[in-house]
Amino acid sequence: MKRRLVSVLLLAALLFGCAGQSAPQNTETVPPEPEGTPIVEAVPLQTPVDITVDAATPTPHTPPPPPTPTPSPTPEPPLYGITIGIDPGHQARPNFGTEPVAPDSDEQKVKCSSGTIGIASDVPEYQVNLDVALKLAALLEADGATVILTRTVNDVNLSNRERAEIMNEHEVDLAIRLHCNGADDTGIRGAFMLVPTREHTQSFAENVRAAQEIIDAYCAATGLGLRKNAAILYRDDQTGFNWCKRPIICIEMGHLSNETEDLLLTNAAFQDKMAFGIYMGIIGYFHPEKTD
Ligand SMILES: [Zn+2]
Repeated sequence: MKRRLVSVLLLAALLFGCAGQSAPQNTETVPPEPEGTPIVEAVPLQTPVDITVDAATPTPHTPPPPPTPTPSPTPEPPLYGITIGIDPGHQARPNFGTEPVAPDSDEQKVKCSSGTIGIASDVPEYQVNLDVALKLAALLEADGATVILTRTVNDVNLSNRERAEIMNEHEVDLAIRLHCNGADDTGIRGAFMLVPTREHTQSFAENVRAAQEIIDAYCAATGLGLRKNAAILYRDDQTGFNWCKRPIICIEMGHLSNETEDLLLTNAAFQDKMAFGIYMGIIGYFHPEKTD
């Protein structure tokens, strides 16, 4: 712009100059630029604000918080709150000391006998009992049960009375004694249950129901049969029963004196089935509505 004004002045000077030196200069025509006044081009006062963007932008919308979902109740494990005692029969070294067979009895009985042994496998009964006990405990605990094991190793010294008292101390809802049988007749086979006679228990009906549930589920899971004519035997000579004030049963899981059963009872994969069968029987005992 400044250059253009200068050009205009020059042009005017030339024009007027051409008119003659004597012609008065029209100083009014082109007023002198005030010094120091910046000449600026006309620019918009404000940089246009593109308000269309804002106008088109939807009002920020905060979505309402999602409704707090009602927590669906987690189903309780089926054995939650239930305490189950497991007594794997016998131990590595028997204890031939004696103790009263019952609280009110003068009859003495060996504290812990040696148990039987696999006729073909040579595996001792106490080992089979412990193996199945540990598998069973894991299944029960996975279902929420509190499990009381009288022993978790073979090298213990526990009498049958002491084992019963462990069940009393922990107020178990059901005590299960695990054993295998031995018979002189190697042809005898099958599983069966022992329960205390009515006079030697505080929970006869519960014991019988537990025994029935467990032996049925055990035979179904393992394919083992019932010992002939001996599904449930009622016994008054079991120290481990007579000192127990809680519901209690004993399962004889099969015969280590029978070669066929011995090789099954001492097989780890088969022991999984044994433990599962007992576990299913326990579920049936505590939740008869689930298995009927
Ligand atoms: Zn035994």
